[in-house]
Amino acid sequence: MVLPEVLRTLKRLLGNAPTLSGMPMHPRPNPRPSENMRAMVMHAVGQPLRLEERPLPEPGPDEVRLRVEACAVCRTDLHIVDGELPLPLLPVVPGHEIVGIIDRVGSGVKTLRCGDRVGVPWLAHTCGHCDYCGSGRENLCDQPVFTGHGRDGGFATHVTAEAAFCLPLGQTMDAVHMAPLMCAGLIGWRSLRMAGDEARRIGLYGFGAAAHLVLQVARLQGREVHAFTRPGDVRTQTFARGLGATWAGGSDSAPVRPLDAAIIFAPVGDLVPAALRAVRKGGRVVCGGIHMSDIPGFPYRILWEERQLLSVANLTRADATAFLHFVSGRSLRVVSTPYALEQANEALDDLRSGRLQGAAVLVP
Ligand SMILES: [Zn+2]
Ligand SMILES: [Zn+2]
Repeated sequence: MVLPEVLRTLKRLLGNAPTLSGMPMHPRPNPRPSENMRAMVMHAVGQPLRLEERPLPEPGPDEVRLRVEACAVCRTDLHIVDGELPLPLLPVVPGHEIVGIIDRVGSGVKTLRCGDRVGVPWLAHTCGHCDYCGSGRENLCDQPVFTGHGRDGGFATHVTAEAAFCLPLGQTMDAVHMAPLMCAGLIGWRSLRMAGDEARRIGLYGFGAAAHLVLQVARLQGREVHAFTRPGDVRTQTFARGLGATWAGGSDSAPVRPLDAAIIFAPVGDLVPAALRAVRKGGRVVCGGIHMSDIPGFPYRILWEERQLLSVANLTRADATAFLHFVSGRSLRVVSTPYALEQANEALDDLRSGRLQGAAVLVP
């Protein structure tokens, strides 16, 4: 083990151990009142985020400002930092799995108040009048804005957000465990819905933050879950079994019996033909990520017999309401590894290398 690896391991053991929901967190003192905020800012593709101090932003008339309690790190943040998605805004503060307390309210906001706890997800704004917005598919809006992409996100002590896209949250769970629900949970929920209610045997390819939540939701719905990890990743396979997977193994294995549906969370195009081979006639393969490496050519016979291949894009506010309603009162085991805001680059590196179990969460 080389020295940086040793240091990282030590730090994880001493200071960054994953925490489970229900375990007490040390209360963090409120930051001293200040006119400034701190943020981890992306200036260019491939460069580390930089810690910056900025004046506190004023919310617009339809916006609120939050004091960020926690912001989870999503694979989409990696795609943004690595330049794999178009970047409408630079410099930009990434982060779209935000939980925070409102500390300032725009003049036109009637639905939220100072002191309210809300979540801010990926979907930050939709036009409200395109065909998609008009047909209950605002996730496909022609002119959307995304948090931490087209406007500054939650890798910061403070963030502003459009009030209509904030998700009211209760106080029942601590922020470190709630933050991963804001994208890993929500996109996972939408992916599971797209897999179809009739799909009873589900395969999950890529077992990170989203899959560890989807597995539990699927089990609560009485479904059987098979977890496919990187070949040889015994630690993650054990993790999946511990959360209720019927079977866990490498993505190079075939299921004993064909699956009704598969969801691919890993950004690996090679998994598409693998998952198509694993589903039964009429089965579905859902690609849950925003970016994937190229999908290799495959024989038509693995799509034949009415198998379906589809992708999931973004989320609607209706998804969020349904998901938060489903999880309220149920005990999801959210596995989070907290990092200080200044450790955002380290959290991204740990996610990139697959060292993490569950979700990385920044706590400013
Ligand atoms: Zn995300
Ligand atoms: Zn629209």
